[in-house]
Amino acid sequence: MPTRELPEKSEITIIGGGIVGVTIAHELAKRGEEVTVIEKRFIGSGSTFRCGTGIRQQFNDEANVQVMKRSVELWKKYSEEYGFPFQQTGYLFLLYDDEEVETFKRNIAIQNKFGVPTRLITPEEAKEIVPLLDISEVVAASWNPTDGKASPFHSTAKFALHAEEFGAKLVEYTEVKDFIIENGEIKGLKTSRGTIKTGIVVNATNAWAKLINAMAGIRTKIPIEPYKHQAVITQPIKKGSVKPMVISFRYGHAYLTQTSHGGIIGGVGYEEGPTYDLNPTYEFLREVSYYFTKIIPALRELLILRTWAGYYAKTPDSNPAIGKIEELSDYYIAAGFSGHGFMMAPAVAEMVADLITKGKTDLPAWWYDPYRFERGELRGKALQMG
Ligand SMILES: Cc1cc2nc3c(=O)[nH]c(=O)nc-3n(C[C@H](O)[C@H](O)[C@H](O)COP(=O)(O)OP(=O)(O)OC[C@H]3O[C@@H](n4cnc5c(N)ncnc54)[C@H](O)[C@@H]3O)c2cc1C
Repeated sequence: MPTRELPEKSEITIIGGGIVGVTIAHELAKRGEEVTVIEKRFIGSGSTFRCGTGIRQQFNDEANVQVMKRSVELWKKYSEEYGFPFQQTGYLFLLYDDEEVETFKRNIAIQNKFGVPTRLITPEEAKEIVPLLDISEVVAASWNPTDGKASPFHSTAKFALHAEEFGAKLVEYTEVKDFIIENGEIKGLKTSRGTIKTGIVVNATNAWAKLINAMAGIRTKIPIEPYKHQAVITQPIKKGSVKPMVISFRYGHAYLTQTSHGGIIGGVGYEEGPTYDLNPTYEFLREVSYYFTKIIPALRELLILRTWAGYYAKTPDSNPAIGKIEELSDYYIAAGFSGHGFMMAPAVAEMVADLITKGKTDLPAWWYDPYRFERGELRGKALQMG
């Protein structure tokens, strides 16, 4: 399990032990690289353990569809190899008018082009998939049975364990405080528990990424801001009641599904920020109850057990910043996942490991170019739920 010992030196140091930092470490260690993760609290304690579990390939641009197709392949591969549940129970987007249907037809065409088998289905077909749905206002649905969900706790822990087996060091309760830089080269990091000598650093702190960029003296404009998003879990109900992730943009940008324990988990678009505050609010509780019961009226009977909050680390186009920052050798960033970083992590890990070990990658990393903000080349807004 993660150690508290800070090594004296490490070739590569990843700041942040969320799913992104851990999967990058796993991929690098698997390739034989010497890698250390430094995490200020415990592994998964940032947004990762607060997320909604969803993993989808239904995006609205070619890059994200390709990356998520690869990510789902990796989720499948590692869940089988490492024995954590990844259930391909699908994503069901409920559509309520012609405009929504037209938009989703365009998205489906992009997804089909890369072999993601999404199709438009009728309200009756949607009700066969989730019998509890109220389809009285639904005109169609976008359905991809190969999307899915995974437990953030279970999967992050397994990736961490196997990263360690490949030789990665995961150091918890250690906060990076400063960079040691000489002539534009990283020499080490100062932490709350001493100094580590290192040449290559990856900023995988998502909601805290701008603070690490500032520590490194990065002048390139990489706008990533923390927004508070909340989630809810209900008492458990009969297993298999809500198999896929159900999405309704019409009703509050709601997303909901059932966990393996049987509770209904999900959230709505309700957002506050930029802020580092994480207190759940009454307003969220009211909104989530209203919208969820519009989508599945039977949820009225259920007790809400708990609400909590986490960060969406948002960029102006809802796409992360992934790549090398040339101002400093060798500094990489993989942050700003705008509410869909859990699902992306395995493919992002491959991308970042490729960039570090080979200087290039077959995945469309250019889409996430950290310099695009400064160049004024924002991407089409990635389909963001919530
Ligand atoms: C309510 C909610 C629902 C969501 N639902 C989904 C979903 O269904 N599907 C999906 O894909 N995504 C979802 N997300 C988004 C997802 O949680 C994030 O995109 C993902 O967890 C980001 O992982 P990460 O490793 O980049 O960041 P984090 O998990 O936040 O990890 C960053 C780590 O960096 C550490 N750190 C920060 N500063 C320092 C420092 N100075 N020194 C050392 N360590 C430091 C932090 O402690 C933290 O552990 C959701 C988010 C929320 C809040």
